[in-house]
Amino acid sequence: MKDVIFENYQRLRNSIPEYVDLVVAAKQRLVKEIEEVINAGAQIIGENYLQETQELYNALGKKAKALKWHMIGHLQRNKVKQAVEIFDMIQTVDSLRIAQEINKRCSEIKKLMPVLVEINSAREAQKTGLIPEEALDFIKEISTLPFLKIMGIMTMGPRFGNPEKARSYFIKTKRVFEELNSLSLPNVVPRILSMGMTNTFRVAIEEGSNMVRIGQAIFQAG
Ligand SMILES: *Cc1c(COP(=O)(O)O)cnc(C)c1O
Repeated sequence: MKDVIFENYQRLRNSIPEYVDLVVAAKQRLVKEIEEVINAGAQIIGENYLQETQELYNALGKKAKALKWHMIGHLQRNKVKQAVEIFDMIQTVDSLRIAQEINKRCSEIKKLMPVLVEINSAREAQKTGLIPEEALDFIKEISTLPFLKIMGIMTMGPRFGNPEKARSYFIKTKRVFEELNSLSLPNVVPRILSMGMTNTFRVAIEEGSNMVRIGQAIFQAG
Protein backbone atom coordinates (compact mmCIF):
# COMPACT_ATOMS: atom_id res chain seq x y z
CA MET A 1 0.00 0.00 0.00
CA LYS A 2 1.27 3.42 -0.91
CA ASP A 3 1.18 5.94 1.84
CA VAL A 4 1.20 9.69 2.13
CA ILE A 5 4.99 10.01 2.24
CA PHE A 6 5.42 7.89 -0.86
CA GLU A 7 2.90 9.97 -2.76
CA ASN A 8 4.19 13.29 -1.46
CA TYR A 9 7.71 12.45 -2.57
CA GLN A 10 6.67 11.33 -6.02
CA ARG A 11 4.39 14.30 -6.57
CA LEU A 12 7.14 16.65 -5.51
CA ARG A 13 9.79 14.89 -7.61
CA ASN A 14 7.54 15.07 -10.66
CA SER A 15 6.72 18.72 -10.11
CA ILE A 16 10.30 19.99 -10.07
CA PRO A 17 12.65 19.96 -13.06
CA GLU A 18 14.83 16.89 -13.51
CA TYR A 19 18.08 18.85 -13.22
CA VAL A 20 17.16 19.88 -9.67
CA ASP A 21 18.44 17.47 -7.04
CA LEU A 22 15.99 16.75 -4.23
CA VAL A 23 17.54 16.37 -0.79
CA VAL A 24 15.18 14.84 1.75
CA ALA A 25 15.51 16.83 5.00
CA ALA A 26 15.21 13.95 7.42
CA LYS A 27 15.72 15.53 10.83
CA GLN A 28 13.71 13.94 13.62
CA ARG A 29 11.88 11.53 11.33
CA LEU A 30 11.28 7.88 12.15
CA VAL A 31 13.18 5.11 10.41
CA LYS A 32 9.98 3.85 8.81
CA GLU A 33 9.27 7.30 7.40
CA ILE A 34 12.70 7.34 5.80
CA GLU A 35 12.18 3.82 4.45
CA GLU A 36 8.99 5.00 2.81
CA VAL A 37 10.70 7.91 1.12
CA ILE A 38 13.46 5.59 -0.10
CA ASN A 39 10.80 3.29 -1.56
CA ALA A 40 9.45 6.31 -3.39
CA GLY A 41 12.85 6.87 -5.00
CA ALA A 42 14.73 9.22 -2.69
CA GLN A 43 18.49 9.21 -3.26
CA ILE A 44 19.87 12.00 -1.10
CA ILE A 45 19.26 12.28 2.63
CA GLY A 46 20.01 15.57 4.36
CA GLU A 47 20.70 15.44 8.08
CA ASN A 48 21.24 18.07 10.75
CA TYR A 49 22.73 15.97 13.53
CA LEU A 50 25.58 13.49 13.45
CA GLN A 51 24.22 11.08 16.05
CA GLU A 52 20.82 10.91 14.40
CA THR A 53 22.54 10.21 11.10
CA GLN A 54 24.58 7.36 12.56
CA GLU A 55 21.48 5.80 14.12
CA LEU A 56 19.50 6.09 10.93
CA TYR A 57 22.39 4.80 8.83
CA ASN A 58 22.71 1.71 11.01
CA ALA A 59 18.97 1.12 11.16
CA LEU A 60 18.67 1.21 7.37
CA GLY A 61 21.31 -1.49 6.92
CA LYS A 62 22.16 -2.23 3.31
CA LYS A 63 19.86 0.50 1.99
CA ALA A 64 21.99 3.19 3.64
CA LYS A 65 24.95 2.51 1.35
CA ALA A 66 22.94 3.16 -1.79
CA LEU A 67 22.07 6.67 -0.61
CA LYS A 68 24.00 9.92 -0.60
CA TRP A 69 24.23 11.55 2.83
CA HIS A 70 24.48 15.32 3.10
CA MET A 71 25.17 17.30 6.26
CA ILE A 72 22.82 20.28 6.14
CA GLY A 73 22.96 21.31 9.80
CA HIS A 74 25.59 23.27 11.65
CA LEU A 75 28.64 21.10 12.17
CA GLN A 76 30.55 21.28 15.44
CA ARG A 77 34.29 20.95 15.32
CA ASN A 78 34.44 18.04 17.73
CA LYS A 79 32.06 16.07 15.48
CA VAL A 80 34.04 16.47 12.28
CA LYS A 81 36.15 13.33 12.67
CA GLN A 82 33.07 11.12 12.65
CA ALA A 83 31.13 13.30 10.23
CA VAL A 84 33.66 12.94 7.43
CA GLU A 85 33.33 9.18 7.62
CA ILE A 86 29.59 9.07 7.08
CA PHE A 87 28.77 12.10 4.93
CA ASP A 88 29.16 12.34 1.15
CA MET A 89 28.83 16.11 1.24
CA ILE A 90 28.96 18.84 3.87
CA GLN A 91 26.73 21.75 2.86
CA THR A 92 27.41 24.01 5.80
CA VAL A 93 31.05 25.10 5.73
CA ASP A 94 31.13 28.63 7.11
CA SER A 95 34.37 29.09 9.03
CA LEU A 96 38.06 28.59 8.47
CA ARG A 97 38.26 26.51 11.64
CA ILE A 98 35.69 24.04 10.45
CA ALA A 99 37.17 23.90 6.93
CA GLN A 100 40.63 23.19 8.32
CA GLU A 101 39.30 20.50 10.61
CA ILE A 102 37.45 18.81 7.72
CA ASN A 103 40.66 18.96 5.69
CA LYS A 104 42.70 17.47 8.52
CA ARG A 105 40.28 14.63 9.25
CA CYS A 106 39.86 13.84 5.56
CA SER A 107 43.60 13.74 5.06
CA GLU A 108 43.78 11.08 7.79
CA ILE A 109 41.38 8.82 5.92
CA LYS A 110 42.39 9.96 2.42
CA LYS A 111 38.93 11.13 1.46
CA LEU A 112 38.23 14.08 -0.81
CA MET A 113 35.18 15.79 0.70
CA PRO A 114 32.68 17.65 -1.47
CA VAL A 115 31.53 20.75 0.39
CA LEU A 116 29.27 23.75 -0.08
CA VAL A 117 29.89 27.10 1.52
CA GLU A 118 26.92 28.36 3.51
CA ILE A 119 25.82 31.92 3.01
CA ASN A 120 23.56 33.74 5.43
CA SER A 121 21.92 35.63 2.61
CA ALA A 122 19.34 37.40 4.72
CA ARG A 123 21.91 38.33 7.39
CA GLU A 124 19.69 36.82 10.03
CA ALA A 125 21.41 37.11 13.37
CA GLN A 126 20.35 33.70 14.64
CA LYS A 127 21.56 31.87 11.53
CA THR A 128 24.95 30.49 10.66
CA GLY A 129 26.75 31.20 7.42
CA LEU A 130 28.89 33.92 5.91
CA ILE A 131 27.49 37.21 4.77
CA PRO A 132 27.51 37.36 0.95
CA GLU A 133 30.27 39.99 0.80
CA GLU A 134 32.66 37.71 2.69
CA ALA A 135 32.01 34.59 0.68
CA LEU A 136 34.47 34.90 -2.18
CA ASP A 137 37.47 35.82 -0.03
CA PHE A 138 36.59 32.97 2.27
CA ILE A 139 36.41 30.52 -0.63
CA LYS A 140 39.77 31.71 -1.95
CA GLU A 141 41.22 31.05 1.47
CA ILE A 142 39.85 27.52 1.85
CA SER A 143 40.54 26.57 -1.77
CA THR A 144 44.12 25.87 -0.70
CA LEU A 145 42.94 22.95 1.45
CA PRO A 146 43.65 19.86 -0.67
CA PHE A 147 41.07 17.49 0.82
CA LEU A 148 38.14 19.81 0.20
CA LYS A 149 36.32 19.90 -3.12
CA ILE A 150 34.30 23.09 -3.12
CA MET A 151 31.23 22.37 -5.20
CA GLY A 152 29.09 25.42 -4.66
CA ILE A 153 26.94 27.39 -2.32
CA MET A 154 24.09 26.77 0.07
CA THR A 155 21.71 29.22 1.68
CA MET A 156 18.58 29.04 3.82
CA GLY A 157 16.95 32.43 3.38
CA PRO A 158 13.81 33.42 5.25
CA ARG A 159 11.87 30.29 6.05
CA PHE A 160 8.33 31.36 6.85
CA GLY A 161 5.80 33.83 5.56
CA ASN A 162 5.36 34.86 1.97
CA PRO A 163 7.94 32.99 -0.14
CA GLU A 164 8.31 36.10 -2.32
CA LYS A 165 10.18 37.64 0.60
CA ALA A 166 12.97 35.13 -0.02
CA ARG A 167 13.44 35.99 -3.68
CA SER A 168 15.91 38.85 -3.29
CA TYR A 169 18.11 36.70 -1.04
CA PHE A 170 18.16 33.91 -3.58
CA ILE A 171 19.09 36.41 -6.29
CA LYS A 172 21.93 37.69 -4.13
CA THR A 173 23.17 34.16 -3.50
CA LYS A 174 23.01 33.31 -7.20
CA ARG A 175 25.18 36.33 -7.89
CA VAL A 176 27.86 35.03 -5.54
CA PHE A 177 27.64 31.65 -7.26
CA GLU A 178 28.14 33.29 -10.66
CA GLU A 179 31.11 35.30 -9.42
CA LEU A 180 32.59 32.10 -8.08
CA ASN A 181 32.14 30.50 -11.49
CA SER A 182 34.04 33.32 -13.13
CA LEU A 183 37.09 32.73 -10.92
CA SER A 184 39.28 29.83 -11.60
CA LEU A 185 40.41 28.47 -8.25
CA PRO A 186 42.06 25.19 -7.33
CA ASN A 187 39.73 22.60 -5.78
CA VAL A 188 36.70 24.68 -6.73
CA VAL A 189 34.15 23.17 -9.10
CA PRO A 190 31.07 25.31 -8.64
CA ARG A 191 28.17 23.20 -9.85
CA ILE A 192 25.69 23.23 -6.98
CA LEU A 193 23.45 26.02 -5.81
CA SER A 194 21.53 24.57 -2.86
CA MET A 195 18.58 26.74 -1.95
CA GLY A 196 14.89 26.29 -1.30
CA MET A 197 12.88 24.46 1.35
CA THR A 198 9.19 23.53 1.63
CA ASN A 199 8.01 27.10 1.73
CA THR A 200 10.42 28.60 -0.78
CA PHE A 201 11.59 25.98 -3.27
CA ARG A 202 9.56 27.21 -6.23
CA VAL A 203 10.96 30.72 -5.92
CA ALA A 204 14.45 29.29 -5.36
CA ILE A 205 14.30 27.22 -8.55
CA GLU A 206 13.10 30.24 -10.50
CA GLU A 207 16.19 32.05 -9.25
CA GLY A 208 18.64 29.36 -10.26
CA SER A 209 18.67 26.72 -7.55
CA ASN A 210 19.63 23.24 -8.71
CA MET A 211 19.33 21.54 -5.33
CA VAL A 212 16.41 21.86 -2.93
CA ARG A 213 16.23 20.53 0.64
CA ILE A 214 12.73 19.55 1.65
CA GLY A 215 11.21 18.06 4.79
CA GLN A 216 7.69 19.14 5.63
CA ALA A 217 6.22 18.90 2.14
CA ILE A 218 7.31 15.27 2.07
CA PHE A 219 6.54 14.11 5.59
CA GLN A 220 3.40 16.01 6.46
CA ALA A 221 -0.08 14.94 5.47
CA GLY A 222 -2.20 17.24 3.36
C1 LIG B 1 14.91 21.32 8.06
C2 LIG B 1 15.74 21.90 6.99
C3 LIG B 1 15.28 21.98 5.68
C4 LIG B 1 13.89 21.56 5.27
O1 LIG B 1 12.92 22.44 5.77
P1 LIG B 1 11.36 22.17 5.48
O2 LIG B 1 10.72 23.47 5.79
O3 LIG B 1 10.95 21.07 6.42
O4 LIG B 1 11.23 21.78 4.06
C5 LIG B 1 16.14 22.48 4.72
N1 LIG B 1 17.37 22.91 5.03
C6 LIG B 1 17.85 22.84 6.27
C7 LIG B 1 19.23 23.31 6.54
C8 LIG B 1 17.05 22.35 7.30
O5 LIG B 1 17.53 22.30 8.54
